[in-house]
Amino acid sequence: MRCQNCRRRRSNRPRRLCWRCYYKSGVREKHGPIETRFSRRGPGQGHLPSKLPPFPTSALPGSAAKIAVLMQRAEMGLELFHPDDATEFSPGWLDLAG
Ligand SMILES: [Zn+2]
Repeated sequence: MRCQNCRRRRSNRPRRLCWRCYYKSGVREKHGPIETRFSRRGPGQGHLPSKLPPFPTSALPGSAAKIAVLMQRAEMGLELFHPDDATEFSPGWLDLAG
C-alpha cells in the first residue's frame, strides 16, 4: 500500500503514512487515525470505567434473563457485569433456589 500523503513510498507507519511523512511535522495531523475493528468505541467497548449497576442480578449466565439485564445495563451506559452477579457456582444463588 502506498503512503497516503506522498503516494510514492510504501506506507510502513501508522495512518497509512511512509516513514518520512510520518515524522515530518504537520503531516500526521492532516491524516487522522484509521478506523479499524480494534478502534471502535461504544457502550461496553471503551477502556474508560463506567458506573457499576446499582444491584446484582440472579439471572444465570447465558440465560435469556441475563441477556435482557445486559441489554438494559448497556442502554443505561453502565458496566455490563456486577461483581456479585450470579454465576453457576454462586452459593447465594443456591440458597435462594433451595
Ligand atoms: Zn509519504
